[in-house]
Amino acid sequence: MIKVFEHFDLAIVGHIKSVLEADGIQTYLKNQYTSGVLGEIPFVEAVPELWVVEDGDVARANALIRGLQLTDEMAGPEWQCQNCGSTVDGVYGRCWNCEQARPQESPA
Ligand SMILES: [Zn+2]
Repeated sequence: MIKVFEHFDLAIVGHIKSVLEADGIQTYLKNQYTSGVLGEIPFVEAVPELWVVEDGDVARANALIRGLQLTDEMAGPEWQCQNCGSTVDGVYGRCWNCEQARPQESPA
């Protein structure tokens, strides 16, 4: 399984999950039951995560997510990879270039 998306708003993660599944991609949602208390428990582990079950579907899943053209508000700000310096769209939890995970500290 590979994580393809994460967002603090479960509704957005659920929307993307339904889009991927409509295209025949098997997905797995993590942390869907903890998001309701996110405001009280600021653990990054509580951010809902969308995983793709079959590694072979990841490229297609990423293409679908990109095709959704999420607003900045939905996608979050772009972030800079701390490993290679690439600018990465806010929807991605990993660098497209080197697969470094997004730094978890919240932006100032
Ligand atoms: Zn990188």
